[in-house]
Parts: sequence; structure tokens; C-alpha cells
Amino acid sequence: MQTLWDERYAQRTQRMTSSVIRELLKLTEKPDVISFGGGMPAPELFPVPQFLDASREVLEESGAQALQYGPTEGYRPLRELIVRHTARYGLNVSTDNVMITSGSQQALDLLGKIFINVGDHIAVEAPTYLGALQAWSAYGAEYVPVPTDGEGITVGGLEDALRAGPKFIYVLPNFQNPTGVTLALERRRRIVALADRHGVPIIEDDPYGQLRFEGEHQPALVTLDGDGRAAGQPAYRGNVIYLSTFSKLLAPGIRLGWVVAPPEVIAKLVQAKQGADLHTSTLNQMVAHRVARGGFLDEHVRRLRRVYRERRDVMTAAMQEHFPADVRWTHPAGGLFLWVTLPGRLDATELLHRAVEQKVAYVPGAPFFPCGGGSHTLRLNFSNAQPERIREGIERLGRVLRLALAE
Ligand code: PMP
Repeated sequence: MQTLWDERYAQRTQRMTSSVIRELLKLTEKPDVISFGGGMPAPELFPVPQFLDASREVLEESGAQALQYGPTEGYRPLRELIVRHTARYGLNVSTDNVMITSGSQQALDLLGKIFINVGDHIAVEAPTYLGALQAWSAYGAEYVPVPTDGEGITVGGLEDALRAGPKFIYVLPNFQNPTGVTLALERRRRIVALADRHGVPIIEDDPYGQLRFEGEHQPALVTLDGDGRAAGQPAYRGNVIYLSTFSKLLAPGIRLGWVVAPPEVIAKLVQAKQGADLHTSTLNQMVAHRVARGGFLDEHVRRLRRVYRERRDVMTAAMQEHFPADVRWTHPAGGLFLWVTLPGRLDATELLHRAVEQKVAYVPGAPFFPCGGGSHTLRLNFSNAQPERIREGIERLGRVLRLALAE
């Protein structure tokens, strides 16, 4: 229906699109469809009793504070907890480097708001996280895709991309969304050095780094960047902005993420966030802080790692059994996703309709490529469904693939 508003959208609004994934996932929301589509954690592992107790305690002990407006930077004890917690992963920063956001998705949006002019180029992995493309396209970003392989973003590819003079580089080093691939240590060092040499900063998006099932934790780019700088400086003032989130460690519904950045960037983000929502929910921050403190977060993350590792193994074993021989997939050492490459003549978007008829769903890979390609790829989530459903779903998908290949 025509309304007076139709002619009044801003230019930026014309660049907004709904997430292809969210649209596709609507198709799959029937209970009998086994969906490997969304990036959802295992719901049965949500720490509901801990949230219940913590909510009661917070409201009993500090109800007025919890229900009041709070500082834009975030609830200080939660920022301090993040500083302590991440220090154990080698990331040594000060509370002045940390701002709480309403999920990392808001951090991506605020970074777009403060850094991106219409026509700015951003170097991104191909494929990369769709939510970042969606957030930044609204600000008029153009993308320079950098090829990736089994060890993450390629250094030669990045060198080429830097010639286009991108405003920044966007990298997902651990168990990447969508591929599940982890950036190799040597490449991390080279990428940090290369970016430094070219004077191009990096945005490092790391929601999954703590969900490692096997192998050694790899230092974050922000850590490698900080290592080369004056020791003993209380606040980090380097070239990398680091994002992470409680969505995969506690629960996505609380919408709590955080940014680590130089204090000067935090000050700009604070101004941008004031225009967006003043601050992240005080109640949620106080409750999450109470749930996370005192060792519970570590214990909980250990449980997540155990369960997700088993589900990855169940999924890859079922794929081995049921998928046609010329289908390939990644074997992620952590996180929530793996990435499937079909023989080139198959189109994963077309196949999705047949898959949904067979009551199984996934996300086609093409939308994750900012400049086209990837039509024969797809992403599978292994964290959300229980092992029996994973086996059944992969068997169904195997049938769809075999039929398609036989035609
Ligand atoms: N970045 C990446 C790479 C993600 O995969 C996600 C969510 N799946 C986000 C950011 C946003 O997460 P949230 O807003 O829930 O913290």
C-alpha cells in the first residue's frame, strides 16, 4: 500500500537489505525441518537456573541501580571482568579500552557509523560474516574481497587488496563464520605487520575464539599488535579493534557484546552509541556479570566445548557416511559452523528448496561473498541440533545431494 513515507527514505535506506539468511530461515521454521541454518547455540545448555538466581539477587540487592540509566561505556564491574578474563588469553588491555555493546552486531554498526563514508573500501575475507556486510552496506561501504584458504585469509591476497587503499581490514581469525577456518599463527603475524606497514587498521571479530575443541589457543591479532608496542603502558593504543560477545558463551538473548579499542576510539564509539541507545541494558549487564563471575563462565565454556565438539564429530562422521564422494568440507577446531563445497555444477541456493522438501535446511554460501561467487558452497551449523537430529538431517541432505548429482 502507498503511504506518504514511500518517497521519503534516505539514500542510505535504499542500500539496506534484509538478511538473506533470515529470509531463508523463515522457510525452515517448521518443527519437522531439521535446520543447520542459523548460528544458534544449543538451547538446552543455556544457564537458565543461574540467570534466574542472579536476576533475583541483583534485583534484591541493587534493584534501583539495575533499573536505572547507566554509563554508555557499560557497567564497570562487567568491563573489569572482561579485562581479567581476556588477560588469560593473552589480551592485556585496560578497562579504558573496553566498551559494552548490545551484542557485537551493534559494535559492527557503530564502527560503520564512525568510520565509513559512502564509497569507502573495506578489505574483507571472501567469504565473510554477512551481518557485517549488512551493517556496513547501509553506510555506503564497498568491499575488496580477499581470497581465503584452509588457513584463513591469504597474505598475498591481502597485499593485493591493500593496493585499493581500504579504510580498514575486517578479519575473523577463529573458527570463522561461515567457513569454520582458523587463521594460522604465522599468517596472523604477517597480516599484523603488513597492515602496520601499509598504515591500514584492522577490525578483528572474534565471537568464537574461546570455543576451541582442540589444539592451542592462537594469539589474537590485537595481542600480536600490542606485543610490539611499549610495554607497561596501561591502555592499548594500537591498530586493531577487537570485538567479542557473550552470545555464544552465555546466551544471545541478553544482547551483550564488547569492543576493545584505543581509548580515543572508545570515546567516539560512546558518542555514536549515545545516539543509538544511550547504553546497553543495565539489568542485563548486572545479571550477566553475576552469572559469569566466580568461575562459572569457565566451567560453562568447558561444557560448551565438550558438547559442540561431540556434535561436530557426529556431523562430520555422518557426512563421511552419507555425502557423495566429491563433496568437500572443512574440519573446524572450534566454533559453530562448517563449510561444504559441492561439485561446481550444483547450486546450493537452488538445492535449498529441495532440501526443505526433504525437511532439512542449511544456509547457501553465495550471500557470504561480497562480490559474487560461492554458488556451490553452503554453511552448516552443528551447535544447535542434538546428535540424533544431526545424524538424521545429514542423512536427508546426503539423499538430496546424491539425487541432484545423479541428474
Ligand atoms: N560477528 C560474527 C562473526 C558473528 O558470527 C555474529 C553472530 N553470529 C556476530 C558478530 C553478532 O553477534 P551478537 O550480536 O549476537 O554478539
